[in-house]
Amino acid sequence: MLNKILIANRGEIAVRIIRACRELNIRTVAIYSEGDKDALHTQMADEAICVGGPLSKDSYLNMANILSACVLTGCEGIHPGFGFLSENPKFAKICKECNIKFIGPDFEVIELMGDKARAREIMKSANIPVIPGYEGDINSIEHGLEIANTIGYPLMIKAAAGGGGKGIRIVYNAEEFKHNYEAAKLESKACFGEDKLYIEKYIQNPRHIEFQILADEQGNVIHLGERECSLQRNNQKVLEEAPSCFLDDKLRKEMGEVAVRAAKAVNYKNAGTIEFLVDDNGKFYFMEMNTRIQVEHPITEMITNIDIVKEQLKIASNQKLEITQDDVKIQGHAIECRINAEDPNNNFRPCPGVISELYVPSGLGVRVDSAIYCGYEIPPYYDSMIGKLITYGDNRENAIIKMKRALDEFAIGGVTTNIDFQYEILEHEDFVNGNYTTSFIDEKLVNYNA
Ligand code: ADP
Ligand code: ADP
Ligand code: MG
Repeated sequence: MLNKILIANRGEIAVRIIRACRELNIRTVAIYSEGDKDALHTQMADEAICVGGPLSKDSYLNMANILSACVLTGCEGIHPGFGFLSENPKFAKICKECNIKFIGPDFEVIELMGDKARAREIMKSANIPVIPGYEGDINSIEHGLEIANTIGYPLMIKAAAGGGGKGIRIVYNAEEFKHNYEAAKLESKACFGEDKLYIEKYIQNPRHIEFQILADEQGNVIHLGERECSLQRNNQKVLEEAPSCFLDDKLRKEMGEVAVRAAKAVNYKNAGTIEFLVDDNGKFYFMEMNTRIQVEHPITEMITNIDIVKEQLKIASNQKLEITQDDVKIQGHAIECRINAEDPNNNFRPCPGVISELYVPSGLGVRVDSAIYCGYEIPPYYDSMIGKLITYGDNRENAIIKMKRALDEFAIGGVTTNIDFQYEILEHEDFVNGNYTTSFIDEKLVNYNA
């Protein structure tokens, strides 16, 4: 087993990783920015080292300083968490060259899947169904229009390097295509440093259903079932649940097998996620692979009783998976609400500030993964997600009842949060009936749309 690792992240995921390390007797080094001196992860790790100024580019994205911190503190590995450097192939490659274990897949695979156009290409050649579209080079806007005509409108123009719900545009006709194509290119260049685009058919009212993969370094690959992530705002997840009430056992089995096949096709290692879109006929398509731990991993942990972060650490320590596909038993139902410091009544504007009062819900079936405490000042420099509330019940109905009870109990003073907004989702008849798609928030919670 690895003896000591550095955690190249902050917030709740850094705390989550520290917890897993403690249980496995792995020593931890936190990195922090000048804006995170008092952060929980900084205080909780065995050691903490400042790597730069408050802006991400100066600290949590500062490869030279992070690697120096790793060497100085004698760490054998780096856990990148999600966001920041977690899907940066250059960082994973340098780690390897410096003999530091990057806790994730090989850099080549990160690079491959990070180019979402190439990922489509590879999945197609492995006979994995992908969304109808085009991932080749687009030479000119005329060429783009030709391709668009062949695929048929409406369609989506997507940045090959995109992520976090950014770099996606929907167009309904040639006029809109012309109008958006160049803009999408410019935007992609500005956000992701490159302007490669690809085109996909716009799937109307789909469900986003993803499969959690675990793969060891000996070539064993299993899945831990699916997560339903259709509740989104601006293509970003808001609330997730597992299992999905849309899948029957037959479709679940089929999609799980395809997900494992997709991971094997790229010689995947460690934890990863295969994201699918599913249309109303139950036809499913590969959308992308996330080559890292995911925000919503706890709901899978609750229904499988498998600690995914510990599995990541064991796999990175070259241990063979102890669980086979047949050992994975899905039991009960779990829901996660992302708790954000933002104002739903003001177009979800981020609301950093001091947490002046805090009461955290608990009780049977309630889990809170967060990095906040009373008196903590949420810095303005990072993501507005300050925690995740997860509930578990023996069935969906009871998981919902628990979530409503827990949201009700959650009291955060001093900053505005989306707790009431989450409650509204849970109360909506269509949510209660499991009758929802990715358009739910836009179409059903109209009071919040700008
Ligand atoms: P998940 O699929 O795990 O829910 P998200 O898309 O919500 O992942 O992203 C997780 C975190 O990583 C978020 O804080 C998001 O802002 C950030 N993130 C994801 N991809 C990118 C990217 N390409 N560039 C910048 N941030 C990203
Ligand atoms: P990201 O890398 O930002 O996570 P994804 O490719 O996973 O981007 O897409 C994010 C979300 O955008 C999906 O969960 C879905 O809601 C929506 N989306 C993406 N592609 C399509 C499509 N072809 N048709 C309909 N919705 C889509
Ligand atoms: Mg995605």
